[in-house]
Amino acid sequence: MVFNIVLFGAPGSGKGTQSTLLAEKFGLVHLSTGDLLRAEVQKGSSLGIQIDSYISKGNLVPDNLIVDMLAAVLDSNEGAKGFIFDGFPRTTDQAAALKKMLAVKGTDVALMINLSVGEEELINRLLYRGISSGRTDDNYETIQHRIKVYHEKTAPVKAFYESLGCAVDIDGTGSLSEIFERIQSAVNAVINT
Ligand code: ADP
Repeated sequence: MVFNIVLFGAPGSGKGTQSTLLAEKFGLVHLSTGDLLRAEVQKGSSLGIQIDSYISKGNLVPDNLIVDMLAAVLDSNEGAKGFIFDGFPRTTDQAAALKKMLAVKGTDVALMINLSVGEEELINRLLYRGISSGRTDDNYETIQHRIKVYHEKTAPVKAFYESLGCAVDIDGTGSLSEIFERIQSAVNAVINT
């Protein structure tokens, strides 16, 4: 059985950290579009330079570029037990494209986990991460913009999965292990049905 999970939430909600733990626990492939994009920027390719101009301003990278990138990664992981999508989909068009790509492979998203964290804590977490991350987008001004973009373009993705009946809300505050326990129970509830 292929088991795909979308780990959803605002910037700073802990998607990356929890996705890593989940991937290990359930033997799934962790796909972070943010990490894939930053790897391309690191290469210094012309595509990377283009991508950096979006990321460093806190804007979304265009859908077609993200969807093509994702399609290639899915194709190169044939035979995977399943995927954890972290930071993707970020627009309803990306969500529809993902549904199509998975349908071609005879699968779908089994569970969408929305990690919910209050705005003040999100900003504090991102500012703190900025001290060590070296990320060009972890500064106060860009963080504010990323949260605005999240509300405008990404939050509607939640309704997309709610209407499909596979969305759950998880409290994203507390210790890493407390949050992971909550996520694991949600995953087990779906696996065991
Ligand atoms: P965070 O969730 O903390 O903002 P990410 O690493 O997921 O961190 O994303 C960082 C940046 O990468 C985003 O602000 C955006 O510019 C770009 N990005 C990542 N994933 C996507 C996506 N699915 N669609 C468009 N842009 C994306």
